[in-house]
Amino acid sequence: MAEFTMTIGGRSVAAEETFGVVNPATGAVHEQAPDCSPAQLDEAMAAAAGAYRDWKRDIEVRRKALHSAADLLMASAADLAPVLTGEQGKPLQDATFEVIGAGIWLKYFADLELPREVIQDDDNAFVEVVRRPMGVVAAIAPWNFPLVLASWKIGPALLAGNTMVLKPSPYTPLATLRLGELLRDVFPPGVFNVVSGGDRLGAQMTTHPVPRKISFTGSVETGKLVAAAAAPDLKRTTLELGGNDPAILLDDVDVATVADKVFAQAFANNGQVCSAIKRVYVPEALYGDVVDALAAKAREAKVGDGMTEGVQFGPINNKPQFERVSELVADALSGGARAAAGGKPVDGPGYFFEPTILADIDDGTRIVDEEQFGPALPVIAYRDLDEALDRANGTHFGLSGSVWAADPERGAAVAAELECGTSWVNTHLALAPHQPFGGFKWSGIGVENGPWGLHGFTELQVIHRSKK
Ligand code: NAD
Repeated sequence: MAEFTMTIGGRSVAAEETFGVVNPATGAVHEQAPDCSPAQLDEAMAAAAGAYRDWKRDIEVRRKALHSAADLLMASAADLAPVLTGEQGKPLQDATFEVIGAGIWLKYFADLELPREVIQDDDNAFVEVVRRPMGVVAAIAPWNFPLVLASWKIGPALLAGNTMVLKPSPYTPLATLRLGELLRDVFPPGVFNVVSGGDRLGAQMTTHPVPRKISFTGSVETGKLVAAAAAPDLKRTTLELGGNDPAILLDDVDVATVADKVFAQAFANNGQVCSAIKRVYVPEALYGDVVDALAAKAREAKVGDGMTEGVQFGPINNKPQFERVSELVADALSGGARAAAGGKPVDGPGYFFEPTILADIDDGTRIVDEEQFGPALPVIAYRDLDEALDRANGTHFGLSGSVWAADPERGAAVAAELECGTSWVNTHLALAPHQPFGGFKWSGIGVENGPWGLHGFTELQVIHRSKK
């Protein structure tokens, strides 16, 4: 086994206790990760608070460090990607893209400007509005994209002048611990700390007196706990939570082309993407053809250990999630839905599940109403577009959605009716560093990415110079 340590105050820190990290392709523990004690969390918070005093002073120093971090990360892709595949399950090529993607995000933020706006300059006063850092950021990440989603926090938080204590998911701590090790000499000690542990550690971070901001990505359920924990201390929060993204096909689409794209954007990362397509609404006249085309794609897909060349989809990341997807699919089938492809776990060890297309299914079924977060896609027929829009919007979720149309103007008009943070036309999952990303309703509070994401790590300050 390799050794993984936490990064606290620029030092390598082991913990008294460790916890097992499972390789989802085998279902067996393959590495151990440090289980951060409350005293070690205090040390990490104190280190971050101490480093803040200098780190906030010079944006040029911060830009340079973030560029160096990005370069080092990208140059280390061949070392980091197998660690990520081993704990997350995704194919090695996807893991490599994730490492490079994290570097691209860091570089984007390294070059952003922090605006300084003059809002009054007259005989009475010179008034500027500036963006100030907040202090220590507690960053908490999920298991589906451990590195890239951490980079959405690290880049803007550190550029703005904050320091950070980052906690990855207990299912995927290893690549993030390696990231901490890799960047130990890039940032001054205490600027970037990485601790690992279970959900309890996350809860301790959200009630800890030091952080002024919590940047959280994870489920709606946990997001609500984070919001409640942050309230007594009025900590600022950005919450990037779950989604149940609808894709609505209009009646003029070319079925073959659209089915290819919809399949790719529903099953990316084995369906474990907050903003993947999670339910598809299809006009009745096209329904049979769309189901058949999606089912053909699902049957062709190569599922296996992410370390095996040519594998398209790895296992589901963890046992509870594997059991949840299995349960939602079984519930749909017992309620009368038809598995046009897949429908059950793959025999053998590991958390593999057949890519599944569920037909003859409707709203009111759990897998349509809830977030499945796995390789199973319900396809729902509709008669009337307004009714499809009502069903698409009739949910507590509001992360993203898409409309598919031969006529893009018509598509855009329908997309404008979706109640969600990102509304795509003829694509889905087209995320980019300059595009703000966040959810309506229960899918989140605040946004990440773009200047808007950077501003989320700042407080507005007015500097008013009297001229009288
Ligand atoms: P999760 O909410 O179970 O866990 C996320 C993180 O929160 C983990 O690090 C976990 O240890 C920590 N945590 C657990 N309990 C906590 C508590 N009480 N206080 C503080 N932290 C706590 O989510 P998950 O299962 O890891 O991730 C999957 C979910 O994340 C899905 O719902 C998915 O849609 C969502 N997600 C959202 C986005 C987005 O940007 N909107 C991106 C990726 C994933």
